[in-house]
Amino acid sequence: DGEDWQALARAQFPIITAHPELVYLDSAATSQKPQAVLDAVHTYLTTTNANAGRGTYPWANRTTELVEQARERVRSFLGDPAPDHSTVLFTGGTTEGLRTVARDWLTGHLTDGDEILVPFADHQANLEPWLETQRLLSERGTEVRVRALPRQASGDYDHRALADAVGPRTRFVAATHVHHVYGGDMNVHRIRAAVGPEVPICLDAAQSVGHLPLRLADPALDVDFVVFSGHKTLALPGTGAVWARNTRGPALLPRGWQGTPNTAGIVSLMAAFDWLDAISVDRIAAHVSGLAGRLTDRLRRLDAYEILGCPASLAADSALPAAQRRHGIVTFRHRDIPSDDLGFILFSHGFMVRADSLCQAGADKKEGSVRVSLHVYNTGEEIDHLLEVLASLA
Ligand code: PMP
Repeated sequence: DGEDWQALARAQFPIITAHPELVYLDSAATSQKPQAVLDAVHTYLTTTNANAGRGTYPWANRTTELVEQARERVRSFLGDPAPDHSTVLFTGGTTEGLRTVARDWLTGHLTDGDEILVPFADHQANLEPWLETQRLLSERGTEVRVRALPRQASGDYDHRALADAVGPRTRFVAATHVHHVYGGDMNVHRIRAAVGPEVPICLDAAQSVGHLPLRLADPALDVDFVVFSGHKTLALPGTGAVWARNTRGPALLPRGWQGTPNTAGIVSLMAAFDWLDAISVDRIAAHVSGLAGRLTDRLRRLDAYEILGCPASLAADSALPAAQRRHGIVTFRHRDIPSDDLGFILFSHGFMVRADSLCQAGADKKEGSVRVSLHVYNTGEEIDHLLEVLASLA
């Protein structure tokens, strides 16, 4: 059936089929939603919508039940090997999720002289919460040292330097699973190898959950927190979750029912996971990395363009097995055309891309770039058409 499955999957996104003149290439910012997700939300809001956790009547009880089911669904989607020992909290997205880990967990578990290792050049959402923790603790007289997770120019973490950055007082590491600019897998198993078996690792999985198969039972994914955005993985805006393993150090406590959860968003997340499982995340991952490989292989031959980040593992995309390729994200610059101008030119041809500093922590705001990010609905024809336009500007 070749790519037939892809055409069928694409046909399930109403916003895509309604706009044949446009090409959406900004899925790393937020994804489009399939009909099944829209239907699940519609059904929920027209049958049992109520507040959760305060049930004295069937709609409220049903809503509470849905939220609890959704916690199990997050566990099963992530391949949690010990669901009785984990906590799942729902958030508005990765930014809120990382802040939750920092405020509700990390701040209470550091003492004077402890060190934490965090990325200084990944997404700014994965830096500010840890610096805030340091500030809050300092106000209370507890001095914690924040060290940069060492990086290579290629975009990969520097795993050799990482071994030197780890010391007896290292208590926590925040890392990124798939980089939102380079599209590369950041090899968290090598971070685990460098820090040893005791140090909790928090993974910013905004660009990986729903994009690659994630199996927490896999020893290569021995992390303690997985934080992601539902809206980047086919669910509604304002959705996300934190999963905590709770086996290293104290548990991340469930919040109870203070406040009204985003119940429609949580319902949409369950529907998105069901849809992704039905299509197969493996298949989607192979599809988008194939498209990213096609784009990088041909963009490399155009001298006017510089592709950002070239981790050794991504040097020759199309020759690699899918798991080692760029995961649906390709970021580049034109030698002469500023990135925002390039963004406007591309939109004049119908292409919607991200064109700015890409929320990269520490990035020079003047040094923009253009990011193409892909999902299941994108096609080889779209990439070929994009390459034609890019070539005409080279
Ligand atoms: N981390 C990474 C790696 C991201 O790509 C993003 C979204 N661009 C975020 C964090 C923030 O996600 P959200 O906007 O859903 O909070």
